[in-house]
Order: sequence, then C-alpha cells, then structure tokens
Amino acid sequence: MEQKLATLKARLAEIADLHATGALLGWDQETYMPDGGAAERAEQLATIYKIAHEKFTADEIGELLEAVQPLAEQLDDDADDAALLRVARRDYDKARKLPTDLVVALSRATSHGVESWKKARAANDFAAFQPHLEKIVDLTIQKAEVLGYEEHIYNALLDDYEPDMKISQINPIFRQVKDATVPLVAAINAQPPIDASFLHRRFDPKTQWDFGVAVVKDFGYDFTRGRQDKSAHPFTTSFGVGDVRITTRILENYLPSALFSTMHEAGHGMYEQGIAPSLARTPLRDGASLGIHESQSRMWENVVGRSMGFWQHYYPTLQKSFSAQLGDVSLETFYRAINKVTPSLIRVEADEVTYNLHIFVRFELEQALVTGELKVADLPEAWNEKYRAYLGVTPDSDTNGVMQDIHWSSGLIGYFPTYSLGNILSMQFFNKMVAENPAIPAEIARGEFGTVLGWLRENIHRHGRKYTPAELVERVTGGGIDAQPYIKYITDKYTEIYGS
Ligand code: ZN
Repeated sequence: MEQKLATLKARLAEIADLHATGALLGWDQETYMPDGGAAERAEQLATIYKIAHEKFTADEIGELLEAVQPLAEQLDDDADDAALLRVARRDYDKARKLPTDLVVALSRATSHGVESWKKARAANDFAAFQPHLEKIVDLTIQKAEVLGYEEHIYNALLDDYEPDMKISQINPIFRQVKDATVPLVAAINAQPPIDASFLHRRFDPKTQWDFGVAVVKDFGYDFTRGRQDKSAHPFTTSFGVGDVRITTRILENYLPSALFSTMHEAGHGMYEQGIAPSLARTPLRDGASLGIHESQSRMWENVVGRSMGFWQHYYPTLQKSFSAQLGDVSLETFYRAINKVTPSLIRVEADEVTYNLHIFVRFELEQALVTGELKVADLPEAWNEKYRAYLGVTPDSDTNGVMQDIHWSSGLIGYFPTYSLGNILSMQFFNKMVAENPAIPAEIARGEFGTVLGWLRENIHRHGRKYTPAELVERVTGGGIDAQPYIKYITDKYTEIYGS
C-alpha cells in the first residue's frame, strides 16, 4: 500500500507541475507577452490544462485512491497524507462527474463570452452580449445539475470556490452586513463629503512603485521567493512555495490605486509563500478557499493598510517622497481621504463600507439566474433596481452597470460572495490575533509586522488546502463565520471618521 501511495503522489506531483506551468504561461500572458502571442498562447494553455485534466481523471488515479483508502482511515485527520487523500478524492470525484462535451461547451461559450463582453461593454450594447450570457447561464445550470447539490442549485457552483459551504450559511450573515451597511451609508451621505482631490495630483510612477515595494517588504513579502511586475489588472500567481508573484498597476493621477493594490496582492502572496514546503507539488499547495485568500489580502490592505496606526508610521515617509503633492496635507486629512466613502456605480472603485453592497447585488442576481427566477433579458433592469435600493445610485449605462465585471462572461458564477466572506473573515482573524497578542496595534504603528505575519503563518498559511474553510475558521476562532466583528469594525471606524 505504501508503494501505491508513492505512485499516487508521483502522479499528483506531475499534475501539479502541469498546473504550475500553465500558471507561468498565464502570468507571462498578462505581463510581458507581446499582443501577437495571444492566439498561440490560448492554444498552449488549452493543451497544458487538457493534459492535466486527462491525467487527473484517468482510471488509474481512481484505482490508486481506492487502493490507499484503508491507509487514509488509519492516519490522523491532521496528517498531511490524510488531508492529501481527502482533497484528491474530492477533486477527483468532482472532475469525473463532468462529461467532456460539457467541459468543452463551457470553455467555448466562455471564450466567446469574454470576447463578446469586451465589445458589448465598449459599445454599451447589452443586447449583443445577451445570447452569450444566456448560453453560459444555461451550461452553468447543466453543470450544477451534473455535479449535484443539497438545498439549492447555487451550492453546486459555490462549492468550486468555497468547498462545502452552503448559501443557507451565507445568506443570514450577508443579511446582517447589509442591514448594518445601508443605514450607515445613508448616515455618511448626510455628512459633508470628504475632500480627497489631492489624491488626484500627479504622483511619479517610479516613486509610487518604490514606496509600495518598501511597504510590502516590511510586511514580510519575500522577494527572494517572489517578484512584482506590472499588469492591466493586479493579480497574484504562484508556481510553488518558492516562486509566488504579484503584479500592480500604477495610475499617475491617483495615488491609492497602486498603493493599496500592492498591499492587497502582497497579502495574497504572503499566504502562498507561507504554505508548508511539505505540501509542495501536491493539490494542497493552495489556499483553503477564495474567501480565506481574500481575508488575507483585505486584512493587509484595509485593516492594516488603511488604519491610523499604520499611517502614523508611514505618512512622514510618504510625505517626504511626495513633498510637492502632500507637503500641505496633514496626516488626519490624508487618513480621511483614503477612507472616503462614496456610493458609486463601480465595484472595483468602491470603498470599504460600500464594497459589500456591490457584492450582494451580484450574489442575489446570480442566484435568481440559476434558479430561473430571473431571465437574462431582464437582468439590466434588475441590476439597476438593486443599485437604487442598496446604494442610492442609478447606472447611467449597462457599461457602468451590469456589464462592468468580467466574471459572468468567463463563467465565474458563484464567485462573488467570496469577496465579502473575505472581508468578514479578515476581522474575525484579526480580532483573534490581537486578543492573543495585544501589542499588535502598537507594533503596526511602529511599522513592525512580524507578530502579525507569524500568527497568520502558524494559524492559517502553513495549512494550505488541508482544511475546508469552515474547518479552518473553527480551528482558528473556535466558532463559525460571524459577521458581528466586521460590522462593529466598519461601524466604529466610519462613525469616528464621519463624526456621525
Ligand atoms: Zn484579492
């Protein structure tokens, strides 16, 4: 049986190598590849992932998993091998359920979907995108039916991003956040707006880059096992625990963009860098879920990076780097400006308070789409209705409304709630960390992050994908997902900033 386990691990390692190779091709595509490479690169990626899929869904993998099952039952639940067999079994059963023709149909529909979305978005022409989205929704429903689910069809889709999570767990949590946020936003709107115009002065890109790098080095992002490059949309990718890369985007006329996206991606990157080396070349070398991943990026970006303590330490350096732009701006004014709350149309530009409302709009609409309660044709009006109700704004176009995100066109239905789960979890983890280490806020105000990163490594990062998100939250906090710490955090912080 030991021999079978060794064979299984060798096969899984090869599959992990193929995935890492695909990720490297994807990273290159977004950073350095000339435009001319696009068509051939798409074929190269398709080939790599096809081989990986074929190797993983081969009968041999099923036979090996079957053969080592008695061993899995003897192992301690927390052992690496036990987790490896649990996760591999789970992934294998899911992958085998999907018929190849459905996988191919989805892949074709989404590549046409993204192309159509780009054009339709530029032309503000939802009608042109509608048949593509109808096809994608239809195939997604088929996929959910094939995979199977309990309670609600959406659970089959959510499971790809949050293993084992159910919307019956998420709905009440999101409702609490929504019920607290809508009146908070209304109260903020009744206050005089914060003047953040100085953030739109011209900030030298090289100086922005250097400042961001210095901050994430202080955080503990390891440049000997990573690097930062530029891309149109910031992202993090990983080819192994020894090579985790982040990207950023610099806007000359808007300082917060690169600053906070660099911190955000470094949060993702440090998670990947913190995964135990013993999990290398296995399916466990990954985050527990997208929500857990996002809890890391948002903690560094928002809870740490938008805090007063952080800027007490860093603002004098930033001010020195941009003396012409920030010389006349006090710490207090800067802090208020980077935390300005504005109900807006665009999710990716949203502040910490309104961000979740953008997510709830999408989460509710995609549930209605996959149950058939909402037709794609009626989606733009339903979208605008929810923006009026939750944010008090009405999209001026479908470009700035229902067509603003790439997700649905690329088949990512069930993905959006992970962003809000990340926000909520970030405060549960942070509170637990500070309860165990009360000196942390003072350390942050001195630019020291060793205790924070050490705690995250020990409690979250090193485990990789060994535990489901619910198991990990239970291990770390002793309970389940809880919205109250996050609600208290935004209520206290923004009531203080707005004095309402
Ligand atoms: Zn993120």
